[in-house]
Amino acid sequence: MESRFGPEELARYRERYSEQGEALADRVYTSRLIGAEPDLVLHGGGNTSVKTSARDLFGRDVRVLHVKGSGSDLARIEPAGLPALLLQPLLELRALGALSDENMVAQQRRALVDPTAPTPSIETLLHAFLPAAFVDHSHADAILALTNQPDGASRVRALFGSRVGWVPWAMPGFALAKSAVEIFEKDPDVVGLVLEKHGLVTFGDDAKTSYERHIELVGRARSFIDGQTEGRRPLDARPVVAMREWKEIASVVRGALAVRTGDLERPFRRFVLEKRSSDEILHFAAAEQGPELAASAPITPDHVIRTKGRYLFIERPPYGNLEALATRLREEIEEYRSSYAKYFDRNVAAKRVERTMLDPTPRVLVLPGIGLVAAGATRRDARIAADIAEHTVRTKIWAASIGRYEGLSEGELFDMEYWSLEQAKLRRDAQAKLEGQVALVTGGAGAIGEGVARELLRAGANVVLVDVDEARLAAATERIGDERCLGVRCDVTDEGDVRDAFLHAAERFGGVDVVVVNAGVARVGALADLALSDFEAAVDVNLKGAFLTLREALFQLRRQATGGNIVLVSTKNVFAPGIEFGAYSASKAGAHQLGRVAALEGAAIGVRVNLVNADAVFGEAENRSGLWQEVGPGRAAARGIAPEELEEFYRNRNLLKARVTAGHVGRAVVFFACQETPTTGAVLPVDGGLPDAFPR
Ligand code: ZN
Repeated sequence: MESRFGPEELARYRERYSEQGEALADRVYTSRLIGAEPDLVLHGGGNTSVKTSARDLFGRDVRVLHVKGSGSDLARIEPAGLPALLLQPLLELRALGALSDENMVAQQRRALVDPTAPTPSIETLLHAFLPAAFVDHSHADAILALTNQPDGASRVRALFGSRVGWVPWAMPGFALAKSAVEIFEKDPDVVGLVLEKHGLVTFGDDAKTSYERHIELVGRARSFIDGQTEGRRPLDARPVVAMREWKEIASVVRGALAVRTGDLERPFRRFVLEKRSSDEILHFAAAEQGPELAASAPITPDHVIRTKGRYLFIERPPYGNLEALATRLREEIEEYRSSYAKYFDRNVAAKRVERTMLDPTPRVLVLPGIGLVAAGATRRDARIAADIAEHTVRTKIWAASIGRYEGLSEGELFDMEYWSLEQAKLRRDAQAKLEGQVALVTGGAGAIGEGVARELLRAGANVVLVDVDEARLAAATERIGDERCLGVRCDVTDEGDVRDAFLHAAERFGGVDVVVVNAGVARVGALADLALSDFEAAVDVNLKGAFLTLREALFQLRRQATGGNIVLVSTKNVFAPGIEFGAYSASKAGAHQLGRVAALEGAAIGVRVNLVNADAVFGEAENRSGLWQEVGPGRAAARGIAPEELEEFYRNRNLLKARVTAGHVGRAVVFFACQETPTTGAVLPVDGGLPDAFPR
């Protein structure tokens, strides 16, 4: 690990943040350098600080501590992400014998110079008590590989000599801060402290010194490990052949992980999955020691919140038989849940505390030949868990190859997992209705498709936009600009394409729960003159495309076995056809009927199928309806009006004089997808009220 410190870069930071002062500018710069190394800090693990002085309202100089606030990421931190606290009241806390976590947080907030600033790190007191101006703290992988050993202390001593102090395990917060400063005071010449099974702290009088000490110590640990493992595979590998690709088994895994809620309206809570399969992970998943290491405790305590303590290692999965695989996964996940519940009960009883048990579902699975699979309530949660698991696997391989990996004890882990402050980190606002769900929308780049996608995203779903027009698809996904939205090119009239689109969704998110059958085309022409090719074009997309999409949706949802929702975007023409619109009206009527049959067949597997009958949606300026651009002139001619008068014509013909938008169609789709009512086979008109087209 090399120092990335550059004096020119530092000068630029000092210029940019001249108002905030040199100390804070320097702190921002080297905090970002630390944050840029994923081997040092991952998702909020790690924090930095600087002590400086500030002028109060009376013009007096006061000592302040700027420390990382919760919610900021070191890699992109700004001065505001390092709120200032009055140092003196924090230092006085050291005299206390004990301090509860809630009280500690209250005292820290009370010391904030700006009471509206973000809550300071839970490791604030560690930064406050150490006297150096700059303090850097990380959970570096290479350091953890050394400390997470039965003889971690002597290994650290052997490598670093007396340059660092060794701090035995203590819960982060007051206890750790106190013990760390006591150890420092016994030998104030040390340049850093290694925290058992937790991480590294370095310090210095200036930003460069503290940062470079950090990089140097971590780099030295890393070279030591590399020297020990050079040229050999560190674990004993067993040959593993995965007979299937991840995308083929993803929905089976996802179905097995889903939690039965007992709520008839929403019977399942689902997870988004994220698969990782680097060489290192595949090696781990195939290794003799894999199951034992996967079951061992996390490398650093706060990971337990994201990944739970134990990863679920599935030995010799029956990939060849998906039904057997599903059964096996369900059994193992059930077993994991019940053993988690026992762990919870055991610790609550031993510690005589009252806690509410968290969801006992595993968050990381290891599948030989496939890799590791992380589960999260949202895509972001799944990715965070996967990032952590990747680093964990590597660190455990290192630890096992230089000695024997040893994590925290069960009791220590429980304290961390059920720590009130950590629980607060996870507390979120009201859960979005479609959180954890994945929707696939055909005709996704069109005006209605984009509107539907936006509403689904707003409701918390992840969305796969499927469209035949690649350029339009790219434009729509860019306009939407959300990492939960994936564009996939697919011609709905091609069965291979349709299957691939569902597999793409499985690869990215783990499966599909909501399918919106929306792709459609129109051709204008009186029956007496209608070309067969025009009729066939409409039937191909509107009817055959709907069939292929419904077939694949029902097939995949049956395999996933957690129910689901299909919404078919139909049309008012099914009930009230128009002249010179035979190809469209007939092909859509066929699709409509298929949707009703799908409702009959889907009920047995918990799949609801409903229809939305929209009237002319012309789209918005940035995404005009392709269908209407094509058929608009013909429809206008059939009505004896100019093309630009068409939208107004449609608005005026409905009872409510409403302009029907893609957003309206999207909200109707979301209504069905959320299972607000026990409804299937229903038709919901979104047309401003057209008596001729009232469903009957
Ligand atoms: Zn820490």
